[in-house]
Amino acid sequence: MESDKIIDFQSLTKNVGRFSLREKTCLIPQMNRIGGHLLAATFRAFGIHGKVMDTYKGLDLGVEYTSGKECYPCQITTGDILHFMKMEEERLGDEFDPGDYIYFMPEADGPCRFGMYNKYQRIVLDSFPKLKNLKIGSLTTKDGYSMDGMFEKQQVRDLRKSGYFSVVVGDVLDRLLWRIRPYEKEPGMTDEFIERSMHAMEASFETHAADKNFDNILDKLEEIIKDGTKIIDPGIPPKPLIGIVGEIYLRAHTHANQDIIRVLERYGAEVVNASIAEWVNYTSYDKLRDAKTGFRLSLKQLRFGPMKKHLKDILSYGGDLFYQEYRQRQTYKRVRPLINLAEDHKVAHLEDILKEKDLFNFDAGTEACLSIPGIIQYAREGYNGVINVYPFTCMPSTITSSIVKPLMNKLGVPYMDTPYDASSQPGREGAIRTFMYQATQHFKRHGRKNHN
Ligand code: SF4
Repeated sequence: MESDKIIDFQSLTKNVGRFSLREKTCLIPQMNRIGGHLLAATFRAFGIHGKVMDTYKGLDLGVEYTSGKECYPCQITTGDILHFMKMEEERLGDEFDPGDYIYFMPEADGPCRFGMYNKYQRIVLDSFPKLKNLKIGSLTTKDGYSMDGMFEKQQVRDLRKSGYFSVVVGDVLDRLLWRIRPYEKEPGMTDEFIERSMHAMEASFETHAADKNFDNILDKLEEIIKDGTKIIDPGIPPKPLIGIVGEIYLRAHTHANQDIIRVLERYGAEVVNASIAEWVNYTSYDKLRDAKTGFRLSLKQLRFGPMKKHLKDILSYGGDLFYQEYRQRQTYKRVRPLINLAEDHKVAHLEDILKEKDLFNFDAGTEACLSIPGIIQYAREGYNGVINVYPFTCMPSTITSSIVKPLMNKLGVPYMDTPYDASSQPGREGAIRTFMYQATQHFKRHGRKNHN
């Protein structure tokens, strides 16, 4: 693929947004592997060809077409899409048409740079004349990830519900992996089992997601969990429990975070990472919160037009949040009698923690709203240490670090920042070992939380 450097600014609005996914291949970047595959399977259930792209194979391209000042996830995903297109061109030859694909890259309207990834990537794609026809499909937190315009109207709500459910089930499978791998009877059993289970769940979503036959999907999940518990060696005693928070892409993407969970396990930990559903719930919660604030303001000003609009938003986002939390609760209710997996924190509870001492405010937005109280909650629940995983220079995570470090010192709970970029830090493993030494001492003195 040849590149040229002329920028068409109209393309930033014309070729980035919500486009119909019918008859297209919808390319999903890989963040958390399991959740991405279940989401793609859900799309397929609704007749849309969803495909998860390979990740990290195009990092050289990502580095070549970024300046180095972008956030690391932007560099990785830029490489992923360029690599995928290159491979497709080689595979299909003359039949290759970038217009057959829609590259899926959501955005956030917060104060940090995530809102700019898809604009930046549009400029990069447009620098390859062949890739001008490749549209970027974008959902935004501005409207709580509305999918209107991408699917037939009557399907949007069902797809949203099934898509959310796939996120929750992806979280549960991830949590199962982290729960059993440190205690497996033989090395490698868990990884092989979870890979097989992911494919089984993909098949289940493909068959049942379009009819919202969630009970059948949960039956399969239960079966998997029962089999998973057999991998645990009951002779291995409980290990220090470590919680992870941070930037969603980095903490979920095992290549980008240099497989930090596995490294922690190697030094004796059992780990729980913050979930993906927590972020989805946060976006609905935040929109609901905005709508309530807008309603109160317009009531004071007696402006009936805006009042009506805010009321409509309250009902819509409130309904989304209610449904999501209900679906998540029901799912954990089915699996927790089988194995004691960690449950998610409620976003409203996290906001209450922030308010106790005015540590930060949801008005400022970003993932710091989840990470700061998430860390405090881990400490209160009896975790033996907490790690903040994020891209080098990430703004919300740097804020998180500056606020929680003194608090964790006071609480006496080991805490560590782990910023990542494309390089390997020579001292990282040594720092993790030291952290794990401290966490083990904490565990010996205070015991640990048991998720129940
Ligand atoms: S959350 Fe961090 S990594 Fe993500 S766009 Fe914002 S600053 Fe960049």
